[in-house]
Amino acid sequence: MPYSLYIHLPFCRKKCHYCGFNSITGGNDSIGAYAKAASCEIYMRSHGIFDGKPGSVYIGGGTPSLVPVEAIKIILEKNLPVSGIECSIEANPESVEDSWLKNILTLGINRISIGIQSLDDVLLNRLGRIHNASQARESVYKARHAGFNNISVDLIFGVPGQTMDMWTRTLRDVIDLKPDHISCYSLSIEEDSKYFEMIHNKKIQLPTSDDISDMYIFMYDFLEMNGLKNYEISNFARPGYECFHNISYWNFSPYLGIGLSAHSFDGTIRRWNESDIKRYIKTCFDSNDPVAGYEIPDQAEKTMEFIMLSLRTKNGLSMNRLNKTYPSKCAEFDIKITSLIASGFLEKRHGNIVRLTKNGIIIADEIITEVVSVFQ
Ligand code: SF4
Repeated sequence: MPYSLYIHLPFCRKKCHYCGFNSITGGNDSIGAYAKAASCEIYMRSHGIFDGKPGSVYIGGGTPSLVPVEAIKIILEKNLPVSGIECSIEANPESVEDSWLKNILTLGINRISIGIQSLDDVLLNRLGRIHNASQARESVYKARHAGFNNISVDLIFGVPGQTMDMWTRTLRDVIDLKPDHISCYSLSIEEDSKYFEMIHNKKIQLPTSDDISDMYIFMYDFLEMNGLKNYEISNFARPGYECFHNISYWNFSPYLGIGLSAHSFDGTIRRWNESDIKRYIKTCFDSNDPVAGYEIPDQAEKTMEFIMLSLRTKNGLSMNRLNKTYPSKCAEFDIKITSLIASGFLEKRHGNIVRLTKNGIIIADEIITEVVSVFQ
């Protein structure tokens, strides 16, 4: 089974208010050393299931568009053949330069995911983003002009103070940009973020769960109507532009994570990397494994994760695969799933595939929790 490869580039200009990722501000001096360390890590870990060419590569962050092409080249070219596979990179509007885009294409990177988040200046400011709506539009035009034929944009909804009108306008404006793929996530409040503290001190208020559901339903219908088909709860694509890298995660395929705090899973062991950049670089330069921890999930945990990931997708959950993986729970699953089908939250396709209905998608977390409760 081919593995997918994730490379984390953690550098950002400023921390966004909602950010809970491992991103570093003011760390530009370390970029060169970090790239060399990441290249060493790829070399060290390219064996066993992670030997040879990956099925897809995703360079995420942080803000990869802050990283010079030469540094990305160090990571990709030394040990990694990327030709002929989906190779994505994330970018943020304020740092997307024409020359960077053109040069990044020459490395074999063929898909770009731009974190525009909103096309409303008030909300962008409220999110603590450092770009404005006009830079967001411009970044998509620039990527297209540079030669990217596969452009994704990220959006956030459920932002404090966001109204349905604001959300509708952003969606309409985004469609005018003609992206091939859109990822839309409802704002989640991470413990390490500035928002967490602001909510705790009652300085900001999130929209209600009903408002968030309304925003989701409007988005779902609107994007589908405009040719972007839903293929995972938060992801929409023009036919043929679904993200292969994400699909392989949801299919529970092995993945190798390179870089700071990156996670990997080889089908048996789940592990995560060092989160301190200085220690990460030194450990890799000393030819040591930058692992910070690992766990070996048991069959029940792996099955729960497989269910959770599969049910998020339009392809749904294969009951055949589930029953083979965990035969002792077959009867219990059947009862649970039959009852959720009767309630209109799940539907069956082709005899053995179960997936969320539109009503189920709106309360997906509750439905998935209900299905995996078989293990509790
Ligand atoms: S750009 Fe992304 S990674 Fe960087 S601070 Fe903002 S949310 Fe975090």
